Amino acid sequence: MIIFISLFLLAIVLVINFFYIKRAKELEERNKKLEVLTAENAKVNQELQNTLSLLTSANQKLKDLDRLKDDFVSITSHELRTPMTAIRSYAWMALHKSDTPLSKNLEKYIIRILLSTERMINLVNDMLSISRIETNRIEINPESIDLISICKDIVDEVYYSKATDKNIKFVLLEQPIPKVLADPEKLREVLINIVGNALKFSHTGGKITIGFFTDGKVVETFVKDEGSGIGKEDLGRLFQKFGRLDNSYTATASSGGSGLGLYISKKLIELMHGRIWAGSGGEDKGATFTFSLPVAL
Ligand code: ADP
Repeated sequence: MIIFISLFLLAIVLVINFFYIKRAKELEERNKKLEVLTAENAKVNQELQNTLSLLTSANQKLKDLDRLKDDFVSITSHELRTPMTAIRSYAWMALHKSDTPLSKNLEKYIIRILLSTERMINLVNDMLSISRIETNRIEINPESIDLISICKDIVDEVYYSKATDKNIKFVLLEQPIPKVLADPEKLREVLINIVGNALKFSHTGGKITIGFFTDGKVVETFVKDEGSGIGKEDLGRLFQKFGRLDNSYTATASSGGSGLGLYISKKLIELMHGRIWAGSGGEDKGATFTFSLPVAL
């Protein structure tokens, strides 16, 4: 009996031992696999670190290049503006202050020089504004502003002769509105662009209406024209950089613009804590551009 029990116990010990050795082997294999995986992990980690440092240095190089590009645009724009302003002044003097009568052809050529120079000056000014905006070098000096009087100034001083040339009627809806808080120069820039576009895309004999809404917290200014209009699919990209639409509606307007004006206007309005948006009924149904500005307390 004792022998039988001993044999039985021995068998149990052997079985336990067998499983123990098997388990130990499995654990050893698993450990080895883990070691391999850890080594592979370390390698991948190292590769990731290398890629990260490559990306960081590429990013830094791109930032440096971007700054160089901004400096280049800013310096060349400044340098171009001075001689172009001189060309414009001399062309104007040749046209209006010449001491000898101009032939019809010469007059036509000088008018072309004047118009082209004006376009170039506008483009250079747009590029300067963009470079200032994108490098955060634009300064906003907010003041309490009477929107109606600033709109009147722009219609009378800036666009009177162009509107007369195209026989376009301006209607300014003069209702009582509170003053707004904005930088007068930047607000002028925005209005010149929006009213200028309304004129550019209006048909001869059309009407441009400027009006206001207020809820006491903000004042919305809208500029509505009856011109070539904007397609629904294009409304979304109007305010992007170089957002000129070359569709059938606006192609007819031979606008000659840079596609930068609305992008700059949006940035300026946002810097003055406002919003800007556009609407249109579609082809030849006109367009309305509206921007909001906070009421001055
Ligand atoms: P641009 O210098 O070309 O006028 P903007 O950024 O001011 O540049 O305008 C971008 C584009 O938006 C214009 O080229 C034109 O296609 C469209 N647009 C702007 N205002 C009007 C408008 N009042 N009526 C129709 N299209 C307009």
